[in-house]
Amino acid sequence: MPLTMDGLDPGIGMTSRRTRERLVQRLMEAGIDSPDVLRVMRELPRHLFVDEALASRAYEDSALPIGHGQTISQPYTVARMTQALLEYARPDTVLEIGTGSGFQTAVLASLVRRVYSVERVRELFERAQRRLSLIKKRNIRFRHGDGALGWHEYAPYQGIIVTAAPRGVPRLLAEQLATGGVMVLPVGEGARHQLVRVVRLEHGFEQEVLESVSFVPLLTGVS
Ligand code: SAH
Repeated sequence: MPLTMDGLDPGIGMTSRRTRERLVQRLMEAGIDSPDVLRVMRELPRHLFVDEALASRAYEDSALPIGHGQTISQPYTVARMTQALLEYARPDTVLEIGTGSGFQTAVLASLVRRVYSVERVRELFERAQRRLSLIKKRNIRFRHGDGALGWHEYAPYQGIIVTAAPRGVPRLLAEQLATGGVMVLPVGEGARHQLVRVVRLEHGFEQEVLESVSFVPLLTGVS
């Protein structure tokens, strides 16, 4: 039986619960220990963030294609980045660069007061907005634009998360962090990147490498 957009099919519901639980187990084994992050990963309907043809694989711990050469990030990576962002203090406002499917956006919107999310591909930007309104996440502002420039209007942010890899830490983004604010982003060239956490201090920045990850590159301009 095909998956329905509203996920109301009872058979699917059963399967989803079991497969979601298995995913949460896997995240815990991989070191995710924030009860809030685990709860949100268990609750959110990731199958609504991928094409229907891929919905049966939505609770596997893998990245999946979302069109335009982009991917929905691996659940472990989403959980790890969210945990790294929230570890010290719960930010009130978070800027996300690279909305993509909107799944990471939904995770953040479940945990902080307001999320600002920027995507450079118009079709992804539009689709993500529809999905997030379908699951009734209303504390998000979306923007179609080049996220490498940040989003000046609402800066400074207590948290910034970047879900595509720049070569180095973009200065413009770091400057939109509030003092005490935390930015989590993949950095580097080629297929492997370093997941980096940047904290804005009163004078300057502190930087820490968390682990090795793999992302699509941060591009410039819009499409
Ligand atoms: N968190 C998303 C990840 C999507 S992949 C998810 O799990 O679905 C990264 C996204 O970043 C892509 O949608 C890509 O179009 C977007 N992106 C790349 N460069 C960007 C830029 N300069 N500004 C805004 N979005 C960008």
